[in-house]
Amino acid sequence: MTTEAAAARATIPILAADEVKSASERALAVAAGRVARIHEAERVLDAWDDVATILEDAFGPISLLNSVHPDKEVRDTCDGALVQESSFLTEVFQNEAFYEAVSKVEPASVPDKELRKHLLEAFEDSGVSLAPEKRQRFREISERITELGQEFAKNIRENTTQLRFTPAECDGMPQSWLDRVPRDEEGNVVVGFDYPDYVPFLMNARNEEARRRYWFAYSNRGTPRNLEVLDEIVALRKEIADLYGVASFAHYVTKRNMVETPETVIRFLGDVRNVVTAAELRDLAAVGQLKAELTGQPIEETRISRWDAAYYRERLRERRYAIDQEALRQYFPTQGTVAWMLDITSRLYGVRFERVTVPVWHEDVIYLDVLDDSGLYLGGIYLDLYPRDGKYKHAAAWPVRGVSARTGRKPISALVTNFNRQGLTHDEVETLLHEFGHVLHGVLSVTHYLAHSGTSVERDFVEAPSQMYEEWASRMESLALLREHCGDCPAIDESLVQRLRASNKFGAGIDYGRQLLYAFYDMALSSATPGRALEVWSLMEGATPMGYVDGTQFPGTFEHIASGYAAGYYGYMWAKAIALDLVSAFGPDLMNREIGRKFRELILSRGSEEPARAMVERFLGRPVASDAFFEHIGGESPAADHQVLEVACLP
Ligand SMILES: [Zn+2]
Repeated sequence: MTTEAAAARATIPILAADEVKSASERALAVAAGRVARIHEAERVLDAWDDVATILEDAFGPISLLNSVHPDKEVRDTCDGALVQESSFLTEVFQNEAFYEAVSKVEPASVPDKELRKHLLEAFEDSGVSLAPEKRQRFREISERITELGQEFAKNIRENTTQLRFTPAECDGMPQSWLDRVPRDEEGNVVVGFDYPDYVPFLMNARNEEARRRYWFAYSNRGTPRNLEVLDEIVALRKEIADLYGVASFAHYVTKRNMVETPETVIRFLGDVRNVVTAAELRDLAAVGQLKAELTGQPIEETRISRWDAAYYRERLRERRYAIDQEALRQYFPTQGTVAWMLDITSRLYGVRFERVTVPVWHEDVIYLDVLDDSGLYLGGIYLDLYPRDGKYKHAAAWPVRGVSARTGRKPISALVTNFNRQGLTHDEVETLLHEFGHVLHGVLSVTHYLAHSGTSVERDFVEAPSQMYEEWASRMESLALLREHCGDCPAIDESLVQRLRASNKFGAGIDYGRQLLYAFYDMALSSATPGRALEVWSLMEGATPMGYVDGTQFPGTFEHIASGYAAGYYGYMWAKAIALDLVSAFGPDLMNREIGRKFRELILSRGSEEPARAMVERFLGRPVASDAFFEHIGGESPAADHQVLEVACLP
């Protein structure tokens, strides 16, 4: 550890419940005092960045602890604090004197110009120019949406449903899973909804009825209450669109994104559908064929149900590509794989990671200093890798603190996952790299203003650096380095890498068919006539090859659209197209340091100081193209004139 790092190091305060409350109240009071005089500031952009810093110092940690703190009282107190922060921000961006001061700013640099633009947009989106009653109503709606989003997330995170499966029902499960899961007095396995319990079961349990029962419960894990919550959120969003006099919530959201309009989204999704529909049917036919063969049923009577898809897909991967996800855990021991990921990151981007002991919220959590090759302290990262009760159930990265070159502020990001302690499947290695892609975007950014740090980019670009990094899980030149961190695990050779790539490609039709459904569904709920969440879903899912299953309530578990991804879920595929184009810049060697450093400099370090498209095109030296994406999802590019991801408005 360098003394410079120790001096500069920023860490997350591990707050108790009463401290959450006092930190939040103090930050809001100080910020309110500053905002009251902000229009008098000589440099209003700097003055705002200082207020944003005060807020982030309190609410960055609170937003993370809200999802990971082991103590329920702390998590609940964070909920309340975050609602107060959100209503405070709405009020700030309805402040007319502040608005006027920002309008008058004469930008002296590109970051100035962008910050001024982002602030003016925030004012506009928070209702500064609405009539007073509408402005008041907007405040009420924003606050209510924040509360509802929290309730939605909590109903999933804190669901304590347990399912029991007899030893016979666990036939097919890997020994390591059987050794790990708890049992009741009768010897039945007792499981909940954590990924390490659920995902392997759907992939491996031979008993179809047992898989169906687990899958069914999983699709209801946020309901019935969450359906009501979602309906209320959707109605309030439509009301926001009405306040602004725009046709739909999608219009309100997309104007801030790369796509600019819902029409561009729908056209893009249409292009995806043209390619994916055939690929999905082809994949399902192959999986159905295998089911018929393994069950001895005639093919005409064989139907692939939603609880079958993962199971037979794995069997097909074993047969066709000799890929067994469970056996892959030996190749990817969890700790060694994390060390490998840090190593490839160091080589690629010219940074170092040093483990340091600092206070953490749970004994499993690890903290690392991030240093430049020159020894300069860049920021800090926390890794919270394993599941526990009450913890966030998916994988995500929290940008707890952003960077600011202006004030010397150093960034902190936290990676939160729910991995098996022994080893990872190949899918999980991809997840790890994906989330770490977000972490790097946070800690390797060096922007002038805090507001532009790391992942503050357009919502439909934010998943590009993360999806780009997934590729490092499937190439020989990066995987070859794993041996250095796991001397006794089986070596990964060229044949395994080829088989991994081929087996990943198989099923892309099924995967993207699902992603497409999610994206269309999100756009439907954000449209001019949203309808009721479950009704719309059952119609839309009902029209897919695997259909809708009565009694399931998937929308109640769909956290993305209950939160900030509304009218933005399409962004995963949009950004995937950009990600695959970015990968192509590395050519045949993903470990090419020169390109890695260029990516760090032109994309990661820049945050949102410029529109994403300009930065990406500077990095590529040409316009963004979607050919690689359409090939990836199962076919050829739909049409020559669609190969460039253009922002084109329909009449
Ligand atoms: Zn992501």
